[in-house]
Parts: sequence; structure tokens; C-alpha cells
Amino acid sequence: PLSKTRKPGWLRRPLPNGPEYEKVRRLLAGSQLSTVCQEAKCPNMWECFSKKTATFMILGSECTRNCRFCNVTPGTPPPPDPGEPGRVARAALDLGLSYVVVTSVTRDDLPDGGAAHFAATINEIKALLPRHTRVEVLIPDFKGNKEALYTVLDARPHVLNHNIETVPALYETARPQADYEQSLTLLRRAALYRPGASQAKNGDKNAVFPRENAMHTEKTATETTCSHGRKRRIPVKSGLMVGLGETRKDLEQTICDLKDHGCDILTIGQYLQPSRDHLPVVEYYTPETFKELEIFAREKGFKTVASGPFVRSSYQADQLCPHCREK
Ligand code: SF4
Ligand code: SF4
Repeated sequence: PLSKTRKPGWLRRPLPNGPEYEKVRRLLAGSQLSTVCQEAKCPNMWECFSKKTATFMILGSECTRNCRFCNVTPGTPPPPDPGEPGRVARAALDLGLSYVVVTSVTRDDLPDGGAAHFAATINEIKALLPRHTRVEVLIPDFKGNKEALYTVLDARPHVLNHNIETVPALYETARPQADYEQSLTLLRRAALYRPGASQAKNGDKNAVFPRENAMHTEKTATETTCSHGRKRRIPVKSGLMVGLGETRKDLEQTICDLKDHGCDILTIGQYLQPSRDHLPVVEYYTPETFKELEIFAREKGFKTVASGPFVRSSYQADQLCPHCREK
């Protein structure tokens, strides 16, 4: 059963402190970089900072959208800072990260939605950090712009993440400027993409995507090179928040939709209201319900699922990355 009471005991966490936490916090404060950890007031900050993990937020700290669950300030950020990709790589190096998550606000004001900036950031990290370092990108929907998606994929991130966030019935309330089908299409394209897909924009029909309508298979999906030199697919990841008032049936349908669109890795976590101005929490899911959802997702074919009250899209991301688990 779902708990509808006030914040339950299992959602209490210790206050951030400790030397590693302080070190990361100080380093980030001096780097002119934003982290989603801080912007979103993530409840895992203490744990992640202590383990030297952080999610960098590029392309500004104001967002051109205004999702009703999100703590990022709405507004129009300044043009992309060309020095930022290098600063992210430098900070990742200084922090000794072996798994770097990069995300951004949504930049509907930019023609490519910031895709080239993402690609530059992936390239800088790969150039500066040791070869075993993994880069996961958590991208916005680029308003359905597939060339923008290919620009990011061509830079070969190790994991491509795009959150569906919630069930379609709640999009109008929670994500009024987003589109459920558009996000599913992005995931399917990422799962089907092959290297060279971006050449499509130059009219090279043979270079691309011959089977966009086929469901993802090992053969058609994106490839990257692992640290052992093998070619392998870029895993596609997505995430859901629960507790916004979705029905169990809708939730299960969304999990099936994600699987049907080629998604490999799934995260499911509890929505927490960042402030009184944001959408209220309708339900606190019990740890047992999170477990049931995980079992459901695995039955539907997800091999990698993280489901729990504190799970966030980037929480323990290295442990969900198939490349890292192979090491
Ligand atoms: Fe927050 Fe992303 Fe929505 Fe912008 S698009 S308000 S960063 S959830
Ligand atoms: Fe940052 Fe993600 Fe950890 Fe939260 S879960 S503190 S956003 S790395």
C-alpha cells in the first residue's frame, strides 16, 4: 500500500557534513560550475559528495522551461560559455571522479538546444581524464531535434540518459512544455542510432538510421568502445519520479513504454517537494512498493533497475553503468 501520511521515517537523512563533502563543496564553489545536486537540493548530496560523485549542470543555472516539480529557476540564461566544457573536465579531474554525469537546463532558446556544448563537454572530459573514466549525459528533449541528439551521440557518451519523469496523464500539470511521445521518440532514436547518424543532415542517406521504425536490437543500436577495446552499444537510460498522483496502472504502462522504446536502464525514485511553491507530494511510496516496481520492471525485461525512495537519475550512476560493472 502507498503511504499518504507526512514525510515518513525512511525519508530522513543525516545532514551533510564530513571532510570529503566539504572538499567537494569548496571545490565546486570555487569553480564557477553548477551542480544539479545543489540546484535540486538533492537529498543524496552528503552521500554522493562523500564518494566524490557529482552531477554537473552545464549551459547555465536558469531554465527556459518551468516544470512544476523542479527547483531550477526559470529564466533565459546567457549564451553558452565556451570555457565551461574545459572547466567541467578540470573539476572532474580535480575531484578524482571516475564516473562523471553531465546534465543541463533546457535551452529552448538555442537552435541546437545546447547539443554542441554537450558534445564539447564529453570531448573535454575524455581528453583530460584517464581512459577508464565514464561519462553519462542526462539530456533534455531538444524539442525533438534529432540532429541535436545525434550531435551528442556522435561524441560517444558511455550512457545516454533522458528522463521521462512522470506518466503522460500528469505532463500537463508537471511538465507543461514537454511532450511524452517526443521523449519516447528520443529514447527510441538513441537506442537505434549508429555511428555516423549525424551525417543524415548532409543528405547522406546511407550513413544512417536505416531502421528507425524497428525496435532496438543489439545490431542496430549505438556503439561505443569499452576500456577493453570492444565495441558495444551505448546504453539508454531513463528515470521516473513517483508520488505526484500517478496511478499504478499508468506507472506500469510508462515502464512498458520505456522498455518498448529501447530503454536499457531505469531509475525510479520518490518525488520530494523542493518548496511550498512546487507541486505537493500526493503519496510517499513505501520501500516495499519500490521493490514491487523494480520486480515489475525486471519482469518486463529491464536488466538494470534502481528503484527506491532516494533513487535519483544520477544516484550511484556508476553502479548502474554496464561498462563499470564489467570492470
Ligand atoms: Fe527543471 Fe529540466 Fe524542467 Fe528545466 S526542463 S524546469 S531543468 S526539469
Ligand atoms: Fe548529485 Fe545525483 Fe548524487 Fe543527487 S543523486 S547528489 S543529483 S550525483
